Amino acid sequence: MDDDALRAELRAWLRAHVVGEYAEAGAEGGPGSEHLHMDARRRWEYELAEGGWTCVGWPAEHGGRGLSLQQQVIFHEEYVRSGAPTRVNVIGETLLGPTLMAFGTDAQKTRFLPGIVDGSELWCQGYSEPDAGSDLANVKTAAVLEDGEWRVSGQKVWTSLALEADWCFVLCRTEPGSQRHRGLSYLLLPMHQPGIEVRPIVQLTGTSEFNELFFDGARVPEENVVGGRGDGWKVAMATLGFERGISTLSVQLAFEREIDALIACARANGRAADPVVRDRIAHMWGGLRVMRWMALRGLAGHEAGTPGAEASVAKLFWSQWHRDLGNLRVDVAGLDGLVAAAAPYELTAVQRSFLFSRSDTIYGGSAEIQRNIIGERVLGLPPEPKA
Ligand SMILES: Cc1cc2nc3c(=O)[nH]c(=O)nc-3n(C[C@H](O)[C@H](O)[C@H](O)COP(=O)(O)OP(=O)(O)OC[C@H]3O[C@@H](n4cnc5c(N)ncnc54)[C@H](O)[C@@H]3O)c2cc1C
Repeated sequence: MDDDALRAELRAWLRAHVVGEYAEAGAEGGPGSEHLHMDARRRWEYELAEGGWTCVGWPAEHGGRGLSLQQQVIFHEEYVRSGAPTRVNVIGETLLGPTLMAFGTDAQKTRFLPGIVDGSELWCQGYSEPDAGSDLANVKTAAVLEDGEWRVSGQKVWTSLALEADWCFVLCRTEPGSQRHRGLSYLLLPMHQPGIEVRPIVQLTGTSEFNELFFDGARVPEENVVGGRGDGWKVAMATLGFERGISTLSVQLAFEREIDALIACARANGRAADPVVRDRIAHMWGGLRVMRWMALRGLAGHEAGTPGAEASVAKLFWSQWHRDLGNLRVDVAGLDGLVAAAAPYELTAVQRSFLFSRSDTIYGGSAEIQRNIIGERVLGLPPEPKA
């Protein structure tokens, strides 16, 4: 199918289906309001799958459409433009799916990819721990093989959407006495079982996008190890590459709507007449264009395999840009930017975006860590001194 035909087909499909509860869910449910319309958004995943519009970049043999990168860009553009709901299985579709295609066994692909394509199984990412964030190799959650299954014990933290997830990919230590990045395994763990406790963490936005996750002997079938026992580090790093790479494109396309809202607000309240405000808006608009080209260049490299250090440049740039946009939106909104919409803590869309954007420079690897990667792997500077 050529690009124009694809765009026309998708646009027509979205126009016909983004109606009723899905149109309502599309107007909200982004970062900072991720708790809203959850049931409708889960139903939307099925609707989207029935139309054949999930996992569109995956090869047809795994249930995707095998769209080219250019066509995936078209998909994201049209999706954002249509006002369709924020996806609830981004982690499955953009992180675990590509990782399984690269490192999973045939049996793992057959078991897990269809549930992502049809929207029936949601995933979360169990990497970070209280003492293993930027220093991920410090993972202490352990798994022991007993009677043909792994028993997992330990604690994860900041686990996004763990309350909704059916499965979690967990980085844990399976080789007793191992150190750092050696001896870790990447396990696929079912969330609905005894031995798992999910405790929501209240964030700046007043909502709980992420959670603490406690394992006390949680069970994982022996065969659910991706990339080989004790060899999970390379798999975990590949997943992080996907997190910093192609999956950010749809997020960035949504920024266009935020810029539009900012301009509309500045026009409506008269601040667009202020030359400094105009200058700041133009600066942000320029940044969005730079980001777009950077993402497309990164995607072109991505076709050859998992994204490399250039994904760190893109992550650093867009996360800081979005944080700055949040600042500008609050400034331009004036008093409305500072006062909650309603007591006790009901926030406006501008406030939610401003507060949530503070986390952009943290998740998926903090800005400082991205600079370390760029310094060492792109610029060839001496490695960071180790304590
Ligand atoms: C909204 C959100 C969602 C998240 N979702 C998930 C999820 O689903 N699953 C998951 O596993 N994790 C998730 N995380 C966790 C995220 O990956 C970590 O927060 C991140 O890796 C930083 O780790 P940390 O919070 O432990 O901070 P730390 O690693 O303790 O870092 C603290 C500060 O020190 C700086 N720092 C640390 N090491 C260095 C260094 N070597 N050089 C320079 N500066 C350094 C950091 O940049 C940071 O400013 C999420 C985080 C957020 C904010």
